Amino acid sequence: MDSFSQRTKAELARRFPKKKCCMKAELAAIIRASGSLHLRANHAVVLSVSSENAAFMRKVHLLLKDYFQIPSRIIMEKTGRLNRRYYKLQLFGGKNVKRVLTELDVLSPGLDFESGISSALVRTDCCRAAFLRGAFLARGSVTDPQKNSYHLEIVTENEEFALGLNYLMNLCRFKAGLTQRKEYLVYLKEADAIGKFLTFIGAHAAFLRMEDVRIIKGMRNEVNRLVNCETANLGKAVRAAMEQVEVINALKAKGVLAKLPVPLQELAYLRLEHPEASLRELGELSTPPLSKSAVNHRMRKMLKIAETFLGREGKESSKLKD
Ligand SMILES: [Zn+2]
Repeated sequence: MDSFSQRTKAELARRFPKKKCCMKAELAAIIRASGSLHLRANHAVVLSVSSENAAFMRKVHLLLKDYFQIPSRIIMEKTGRLNRRYYKLQLFGGKNVKRVLTELDVLSPGLDFESGISSALVRTDCCRAAFLRGAFLARGSVTDPQKNSYHLEIVTENEEFALGLNYLMNLCRFKAGLTQRKEYLVYLKEADAIGKFLTFIGAHAAFLRMEDVRIIKGMRNEVNRLVNCETANLGKAVRAAMEQVEVINALKAKGVLAKLPVPLQELAYLRLEHPEASLRELGELSTPPLSKSAVNHRMRKMLKIAETFLGREGKESSKLKD
């Protein structure tokens, strides 16, 4: 089944940057976040990027072709007990690899590896968005908005790169956090920030999906609140009916009930027969039928009388004990 994260990435993989500056920024982020260099036995140098996302691999392939006019190869492999499919993009040749790494500011002219993010790559908003999109595509994930808590993260083993990403996200006004577990995590925790981030990097469908879920969640909470409220009211009505039954039984035991006006007696017996009925229902059961307010009025009257006969007595006896 497709997760929200996978769908978001599939959407981002299809979003192709129009400007050269953005192609470069996105490629640089991808290579920095998930590229690896291999030296083969025949001394051939290979730059590779792996992912389970075929559309993402195709995008990297096209970016390399469009920006550098360098061909790359994609192979499919299976891994682990579950034989999960993943794709590996390979770019061959020392000259090609060096050119790509140097132009993307991964390799400095002195052939050192750059760890932070070169500011030249992310001067403008369009390139910042492209860079973050690349990093998210390569190593990011976002939890399903259906879950209770919101979380988006980009992982990396490299501390400098994590610091760079964190800086860049905060530069774009996302209040990102940075933490270290096995790897470094640059993350966002708030739904609003995550929604804005998804929009910023071009995942518009994912953002809309998230908003839909948030609206439904909000409605569900509102419904739950109302149901709880209703249940509380129901509880109140049940408690009141039980009290009425108790009072009527006490009046009966004291021989008071038979001395009450007939309409009150009738209501009292109706209540004993239907302890679970609401006042409205008691009204409907009466002959002739009574309105809810009429039933309420009679019930209050009976309780008032009961207070005179039973309540005061109770209060006095408690006074005596003092
Ligand atoms: Zn740009």
